[in-house]
Amino acid sequence: MGLIRIGIAGIPLAKKGKGVEAGIQYLSDVGLDAMEVQFVRGIFMDSVSAKKAGQLAKKVGIELSVHAPYYINLASKKKETIEKSKRFIINSAKIASEMGATIVVFHAAYYLNDTFALVRDACAEIRNEVSDDVYLGIETTGRQNQFGTLDEIARIITEVDRVVPVLDFAHIHARGNGSLRRKGDFGAIFDNFGQARFHIHFTGVEYSKGNEKKHAPLNDEPNFRHLAEVLVDRGYDATVICESPLLERDALKMKEIVTDVRG
Ligand SMILES: [Zn+2]
Repeated sequence: MGLIRIGIAGIPLAKKGKGVEAGIQYLSDVGLDAMEVQFVRGIFMDSVSAKKAGQLAKKVGIELSVHAPYYINLASKKKETIEKSKRFIINSAKIASEMGATIVVFHAAYYLNDTFALVRDACAEIRNEVSDDVYLGIETTGRQNQFGTLDEIARIITEVDRVVPVLDFAHIHARGNGSLRRKGDFGAIFDNFGQARFHIHFTGVEYSKGNEKKHAPLNDEPNFRHLAEVLVDRGYDATVICESPLLERDALKMKEIVTDVRG
């Protein structure tokens, strides 16, 4: 049987403004398993606070991951932007390592000519500067102008060592203009990948013309039960990060659904 951990993106609503450690303690208290620390608007932790958070997370059984800043574009026309983007990922990974997080998640790029080669080469260079205990998690993206289709993600992980897919099902659903309707649609996503462990983002989503508009509370499409059934059927290890506006409330619902599916 695979290990399925459920957590949230950032600080729980109940501890808003109280910081990462209070958030970790709270998630453990309510029975959740993971937190993805959000550096999306900037890397707000230093080595000292990262180590403290990491110690607490270990003690109370919360798995940590990190989301790197949104400003990243590894395929910019400007060399300077590419270099800055690489730094954002490398610095996020350094803090991740210090807090015992094993993956740093990022949206790689916007399309330009030769985006794939630019992203691959940048990832290879980043890889050289990041310690081996942190995976680079390259995310499936939710907009037509962003690098990060399933095909692109499936290909890049075979070309750069220790780059792994981050499957964001709301993004996949939005980009496919509502493509995740049945359980089989979820299974088909995983068929692109050979491994047995996955880092996953999940939320309800509003979209239009193949572009994500905003996150929404859990609802029928994409349906979390379908995902839970595929994870359980296939015995995958997975960490599922809830990004719904209801954060821990929806994460607890997801946890119930997993328990129910397991029977
Ligand atoms: Zn993301």
